Amino acid sequence: MNMEQYIDRAEQDLLHVYNRYKIVLDRGEGMYLYDIQGKRYLDFGAGIAVFALGYHNKEYNDALKAQIDKLIHTSNYYYNVPAIQAAGKLKRVSGMDRVFFTNSGAEANEGAIKAARKYAYRRDSSADHEIIAMNHSFHGRTMGALAVTGNAHYREAFEPLIGNIRFAQFNDFQSVLDQVTDKTCAIMLEPVQGEGGMRPAEGEFLKQIRALCDERDILLIFDEVQCGMGRCGHMYAWQGYGVKPDILTTAKALGCGVPIGAFLMTERTAQRSLEPGDHGTTYGGNPLACAAAEKVLDLFEKNHIIENVRETGAYLEQQLEGLRERHACVRERRGMGLMQGLEFTCPVGGIINAALERGLILINAGTHVLRFVPPLIVTKENIDDMIIILEACIRCAAED
Ligand SMILES: *Cc1c(COP(=O)(O)O)cnc(C)c1O
Repeated sequence: MNMEQYIDRAEQDLLHVYNRYKIVLDRGEGMYLYDIQGKRYLDFGAGIAVFALGYHNKEYNDALKAQIDKLIHTSNYYYNVPAIQAAGKLKRVSGMDRVFFTNSGAEANEGAIKAARKYAYRRDSSADHEIIAMNHSFHGRTMGALAVTGNAHYREAFEPLIGNIRFAQFNDFQSVLDQVTDKTCAIMLEPVQGEGGMRPAEGEFLKQIRALCDERDILLIFDEVQCGMGRCGHMYAWQGYGVKPDILTTAKALGCGVPIGAFLMTERTAQRSLEPGDHGTTYGGNPLACAAAEKVLDLFEKNHIIENVRETGAYLEQQLEGLRERHACVRERRGMGLMQGLEFTCPVGGIINAALERGLILINAGTHVLRFVPPLIVTKENIDDMIIILEACIRCAAED
């Protein structure tokens, strides 16, 4: 079948919940993806901030193959070595104390919400607790994660979701204070908002929230599903801010393509929260997924991924600022490290399609924001190549 025939088949068989770009991807190599016709694309999307190590990394692939030949799944009735190793490494790099492995980011957030509610339940011997989340946040598509997602359009048709969620304005501490009640059990936010438009928190905002949480015995939950795993120049963004959450969620790059996420907590939180029987998963923490996460964490260190993010992130920022200065249709650059966004005065769909045409994969974050989340092995040369293509696309798509 050719590409058009595959796409026709997909549109007949798959549930239509995505408006996909019209390419069928086949394989990858480093920073590049190839479609089934052999056309090459420079990838600045990384499967939505997932494939941090680049495609076809031999050590990673070999580790997965070895684990497949040993044991793929056990269930959580038993221990397995990759989960033990991955948990130890994840604890060390995240600064947290306890790990629960999940299969996705949304599922990690579901667990975080349950943990927060259980914490307050054990403290107060009553239920009905409230969570404060942020406008323009994104925490996933399942009912609990959706309930704390600050985008009414995503939530509307599916209500009632879980109750007792209040929304505050990101980077506006007073608006958070205004939502606090005796029933507040947690404040949940992304240190750098992703889907909501690539918006970093202000350090002072996070510090004020941390102090509020300490004062009122409220748990602070950071969703680092997108901004964690090195993307913002620290293994986890909280480390750059110096504001530590009680519960941390992670996923996307953790398995570099093998579905795995986790929620983690401090020992103090763990001692007062979920107990045996409160939570579980069949697949979560299985040996295959954990072998992937373990190898990813090893390779981050071995390949100096964080150092590369700092260097190339600064360069990307500088190049994007240049674009902003040269083009009136670019309103603002926002972001941190290799998690950058350009907000345009017009929708960016045309630019993304024009870029694809020229062999560059870009993604959006909302209708007006181009999102730059390349594999974390990106080089300055890759960034130069991207900028040249993007600038040509801006000229023809936005300024015609
Ligand atoms: C992608 C994302 C999620 C959801 O992760 P899934 O693996 O798609 O369920 C949650 N939070 C943030 C910040 C994300 O970027």
